[in-house]
Amino acid sequence: MTDPIPATTLSYSHVAAALRAVQDRIAAAARRAGRAPADITLVAVSKTHPAAAVEAALAAGQQHFGENRVQEAATKFPALRAAHPAMRLHLIGGLQTNKAREAVRLADVIETLDRPRLADAIAEAIAHEGRAPQLLVQVNVGDESQKSGISRAEADAFIAACQQRFGAALAGLMCIPPAEGDPAPHFAWLAARAAAHGLGIVSMGMSGDFETAIAHGATHVRVGTAIFGAR
Ligand SMILES: *Cc1c(COP(=O)(O)O)cnc(C)c1O
Repeated sequence: MTDPIPATTLSYSHVAAALRAVQDRIAAAARRAGRAPADITLVAVSKTHPAAAVEAALAAGQQHFGENRVQEAATKFPALRAAHPAMRLHLIGGLQTNKAREAVRLADVIETLDRPRLADAIAEAIAHEGRAPQLLVQVNVGDESQKSGISRAEADAFIAACQQRFGAALAGLMCIPPAEGDPAPHFAWLAARAAAHGLGIVSMGMSGDFETAIAHGATHVRVGTAIFGAR
């Protein structure tokens, strides 16, 4: 008799194949844009999915993961990281100033620096914790009232101020374009602002539009549903 396959492994057996399919699509989109597939980092967005789903992705070679909520990341990731020291955690959700310390303690990349008060809180947290994650400025490219992110009009001044304050830790820009309409002009705009400020990371593109984002200069795509399934 063979040993039974653990239920958790069975439940997430689709993850490895889905991951491979997304990687293939990333590579194809990069080549179409005349870019090297290795220049695109896939951030697997595991929010709401259990640690077993993350384990399945880790077993398939995935290293970068994205979470929206500090609290969820704090319950899920420390044990995973102990077992997989090379894994990288990106915080990609709106961040409250009172969560800045825990975010700085947990994250390798905080993608949602979007206002001066949060910059103050993160600077204080970096000094207190003695570690500095990479920081991305989130821009509200569609200037949508319900979305977080610095406005387009304020972006250049805020990015410059953050570069001055955080130095090389300020590593790039991030956006979530409006759900309706063509995201391409928003992606192109964000990539141009990153280039203008000499920033190497451009985090944009999700399950529905990551190929378009790659065509317009994304270096990091954040993909959840296409890897882990519906939330
Ligand atoms: C949830 C989320 C994603 C992933 O979205 P999918 O459509 O599931 O790929 C990417 N970025 C951010 C900021 C998110 O909140």
